[in-house]
Amino acid sequence: MALCELLMHSGGLPTQEVVTVAEIRSLEELQTPDSTALIFSPFGLGGAMPPERSAEFLQRLVADCVLAPDVAEGSRREFDRLQRLFPYGLLDYDVFTVVDDRALLVMEQALRERFVQWCACAVTFEDANGVESPRSVDVRTYDDVLAAVKKLGRRSRRGPQQQPSPHWQLKVGSTLIDFNGMLAGLRTWARAAGLLRGQRTRGIEHAMSNLRNAVAHPTGYHRTMPVETARTLHDLAELINQLWGHPTPGGRLYPAPVERDIVVMAWNDEGSVLMAQADALRDDTDADGYLYLLIRSASCPGSRYEDAYWAEFDARFETTQFPAEYLWGPGSRSDALAWLDAEQPKGDTVDYVDRVFMLREHNGQLYPPMHPEVAAGLTGEEQRGTWHTVRADFPEHAFAHVRGLNGSPDAHSRTGECRNCPAHHLGSGSHEQALRAAEDVVGVVTPRRPPAVRIPGTIFWPHRF
Ligand SMILES: [Zn+2]
Repeated sequence: MALCELLMHSGGLPTQEVVTVAEIRSLEELQTPDSTALIFSPFGLGGAMPPERSAEFLQRLVADCVLAPDVAEGSRREFDRLQRLFPYGLLDYDVFTVVDDRALLVMEQALRERFVQWCACAVTFEDANGVESPRSVDVRTYDDVLAAVKKLGRRSRRGPQQQPSPHWQLKVGSTLIDFNGMLAGLRTWARAAGLLRGQRTRGIEHAMSNLRNAVAHPTGYHRTMPVETARTLHDLAELINQLWGHPTPGGRLYPAPVERDIVVMAWNDEGSVLMAQADALRDDTDADGYLYLLIRSASCPGSRYEDAYWAEFDARFETTQFPAEYLWGPGSRSDALAWLDAEQPKGDTVDYVDRVFMLREHNGQLYPPMHPEVAAGLTGEEQRGTWHTVRADFPEHAFAHVRGLNGSPDAHSRTGECRNCPAHHLGSGSHEQALRAAEDVVGVVTPRRPPAVRIPGTIFWPHRF
């Protein structure tokens, strides 16, 4: 029974019925731009933009969100709908909030859909307590998965008091994970299955699922700005594409491997350090007193990857933010040019997320991260001390994590994904133990021994050996 009918039928009411309905607006009113939306422009908040330009601006904000062709249809249709609805925020500003909230729920739907594809009609659960034998369950939809999880949960509780009850875990490759079918379980699964990657993004995924939970269980009114919603849609597109195996070129969350080019670095005694495309060596310059070095680098001038530590290059340590490779030098400009022309080195692409670093701690000193191949090539004397093997996207993250291990005892994790920072601790101990921990994840490590070449006058990494 509707509210107005209730009012009419119950006793003790005012003689005139009270009926409140929402205002009915004309088509013209529905098509009138929302003045709040018009104040967002490519230049931030400003004077109101003409509606035609605003319509184009809003569509351009999300135009480059493109899903890979093999993404499953359900996720694709949900995403297309959000992308299509987004510019309608021009007519009603609240559309931005609704699209943003919905995008966080679609994240979970994409994980579910990818899960069903991944398990190829069957999931296996194993009892971590070893009470019961493994169980394989046929599943066709995600509802089947949830039903299987629920059924096993009931079995766990039914065991006789004196026997340990089974602890069912989902088998993902060679590992077992706790899995209750909810969002956190799906995230753990996607990482265990190698579908989601990157240590920095692990924290962002956690924040996104907190936001999703806030959307699913709202406690108050909120509003989202168009630029925030556009970013959520970009993030969602990156997540969906990554789930289907496609990292995003230049991506914020799941970046594709970056291109590296041949770069020349030059420095003089006065502390001046320069960096340019290698072809700059051909320019006639009267800069005397410089030493030249050729490297392969992602962050050459004009590239989109800014490296705060570009001038810290060291052939033996991972001191630049993006992986840089020693090629030749140091030497004179003419010798650098002669080598360049003789060898004609080419650029390449390199993946910088989830790298493995080895760090040496000796006599109370923690040294900058090393590539496992370089650490493997050290002399016995250089291997002395305690070593740590850490997976991280950037060397500074690995360094901060290991330094943190010596601080408050529970702040950083000594095994597995660190609860406190974007690092995954793979092992600690002797040089040999740490190298074995690296080989467990990257395969056989071939030792190499680059020359002790570095740009002098370092600020960020003062201690090296
Ligand atoms: Zn940590």
